Amino acid sequence: MSVGTAATDSLPARALRVIPGGVNSGQRRIPGLTDLIVTGTSGATFTDAEGRVYTDYHSAFGPPLLGHNDPDVQRAVAEAATRLDLTGVAVTEGEVTLAETLVDLVPSVEKVLLTSTGSEATFHALRVARAVTGRRLIVKFQGCYHGWHDAVSLNVISSPEAVGAPDPISTGILPEVLAATLVLPFNDPAAVRAAFAEHGADIAAVILEPIPHNVGCLLPDAEFLTTLREQCTAHGSVLVFDEVITGFRHDLGGYQKIAGITPDLTTFGKAIANGAPVGALGGRADLMEQFSTRPGAPAFFAGTYNGHPWVVAAALETLRKLREQPVHEHVFRLGERVRTGLAEMYTRLGVPAVVTGYGSVFVTYFMAGGEPRSYDDLLANDANLFIGYRRRLLEHGVFELPLNLKRSHISYAHTDADVDHLIAATELAVQDAIKDGGIDELAGTSTMGGATEGTAH
Ligand code: PMP
Repeated sequence: MSVGTAATDSLPARALRVIPGGVNSGQRRIPGLTDLIVTGTSGATFTDAEGRVYTDYHSAFGPPLLGHNDPDVQRAVAEAATRLDLTGVAVTEGEVTLAETLVDLVPSVEKVLLTSTGSEATFHALRVARAVTGRRLIVKFQGCYHGWHDAVSLNVISSPEAVGAPDPISTGILPEVLAATLVLPFNDPAAVRAAFAEHGADIAAVILEPIPHNVGCLLPDAEFLTTLREQCTAHGSVLVFDEVITGFRHDLGGYQKIAGITPDLTTFGKAIANGAPVGALGGRADLMEQFSTRPGAPAFFAGTYNGHPWVVAAALETLRKLREQPVHEHVFRLGERVRTGLAEMYTRLGVPAVVTGYGSVFVTYFMAGGEPRSYDDLLANDANLFIGYRRRLLEHGVFELPLNLKRSHISYAHTDADVDHLIAATELAVQDAIKDGGIDELAGTSTMGGATEGTAH
């Protein structure tokens, strides 16, 4: 069909004509920013079509831990691309080295398979858990997101009351699939014990973000994580840590290494390759051997692009830099500076706020009280102020995603001067938002804006 583009048409107008909603991911439909066109990225910044440069704390939902256009990663990909592209037969040296590296780095990973996305990794984790156990139920937690597919098909906000009438992330999902998902509150060991007491013999897997970053940051209690491990072991269920965000960003060994918990399977993505499309699923050898990459194994596993040499080169170089350079030291130090600086500023202004996060991740909830422990605690967050100050930050050349409950990220390319500017700009943006009644003119129209809405990324 002819599209009939006029020379004067703007890019967003052309996009709307041929792309549903004008964007390629539902999370890129940001109220108030539908005219934004990104033309360049570099280090800690991106540039728009008007030539405005923003310090980027959104960071594409987390992948570029080294910063945008990292020269070493770029070089490694360019070098790989001159040598090798996809053949779809056999294995390449890079894939073997990457698998060896992951086994070496992550305590629970004995064998590993590569995918192109995090969603594929979580899908396969749950499929193999069902294949091995012969059971039906998947347990997930409020506030966690694991991808777009049907296997964990509920919105992050789905509450325990949604059991039996769960809140699907999409229409078109079979009711049978929804009925096979149990939702529990995060950080509630008693709820975990009760679910296992009632359904233990039918629970194939428990999947969680060890830190639910899809609603900002909920730090896990040690007792909660140990209860999951104990109950899964006692009932023969597979414990899956979804470390798509936490993996490599918080530690080369994942958050599991920090927490001292050994999951059966772990999923990775995002920071593993600094933005190149790579996901991975790793874990216990006996479980991983159930994938059809081994003759006669029951769990079908395939993917035309799995282990593509260019993205494998990106992952290998990313992991080399993360090991050899003080990346974590840098981003953790700046993360701490941001959290301390923002908290002091809010106290000085008398604005009720909880500044939290972990390492390079930070988020401010506009509410009184202490560190949130569950999704329910986040219902107290003032979504209008949250979105409102972030929209006003744009005027100061700072980008934090203006959608409710979204976390922000620091990369190796961010500097102390960036942090100084962030704190000063946030003070002005928050004061402006409050002066205007704390209400952002677009917050009410946002499909993501209310505290009761939520999908994730
Ligand atoms: N798990 C988690 C924890 C995620 O945050 C995401 C994406 N944000 C996914 C899985 C899915 O990854 P992808 O978007 O690469 O499919």
